[in-house]
Amino acid sequence: MGQIPPASMRCASAFSPIPSSRAIAWRSFEMRIAIDMDEVMADTHAAKLALFAARGYTWSEEEIAGRHLSDLAGSEDAAQVESEMQRGLFFADLAVVQGAQEGIAALAQDHEIFVATAAMEYPASCPHKIAWLARHFPDISPMNIVLCGDKSVIAADLLIDDSPRHFTGFGGTGICFDAPHNRGDQVSHRLTNWADAEAMVSGFA
Ligand SMILES: [Mg+2]
Repeated sequence: MGQIPPASMRCASAFSPIPSSRAIAWRSFEMRIAIDMDEVMADTHAAKLALFAARGYTWSEEEIAGRHLSDLAGSEDAAQVESEMQRGLFFADLAVVQGAQEGIAALAQDHEIFVATAAMEYPASCPHKIAWLARHFPDISPMNIVLCGDKSVIAADLLIDDSPRHFTGFGGTGICFDAPHNRGDQVSHRLTNWADAEAMVSGFA
C-alpha cells in the first residue's frame, strides 16, 4: 500500500511498549493487518442474543441470517438493548470468539497486528474494550489499539472486519469475517473462522 512505509522500515511494537532506555529492536513484517473487535475478536453477537432472549426473543439461524437483531425485535426492545450497550459495561465481559487468540497469535508471527474498533459508536465502551484486550490479548501492545470511528483512516494492508461497510474508503484489502448479519453481503474475501486465517492471509503477502 502506498500510504504506509514498507515493512522493512517499520519498527516492531506489536508485543510490548519499547523501553526508552533500550535500543530499538528492528523487525520486518510482511504486512500490517488491522483487526476489528466486535464479532471478530469479541463475541458481541452472543451477548446481544442474550439481551434479546431476556426480552423473550428467540430466533433460528435462518431467521437471523442477513439481518441485524435490532431489526428483528420490536422497536422499544431494540432501543433498550441499544441503550444498555451505550452504557458501556456490555463490552466488559464478552466471550472471546472461538480461535481468535490462536489465530491472531499465528498472524503476529509474520505480520504487524493492529486492533481497529469503531468504539466511537459506543464511547462508553472504550475503557472496557481496552481492559478486555489487556485481559484476553495481552501480547497486543496498547500502542497497537486504535479506537476510531470511520475506518477509512486506517492505513493497513488488510482489514479483517465483520462489517463490509468499513471497507468503503479503506485503502487496503477488506476481508469479511463471517457473521450472521453479513451472510447476504457480496464480498470479495470471506473468512469463515480463525482457523483459516493464516492460510487466507498468506495469499495476500
Ligand atoms: Mg465488528
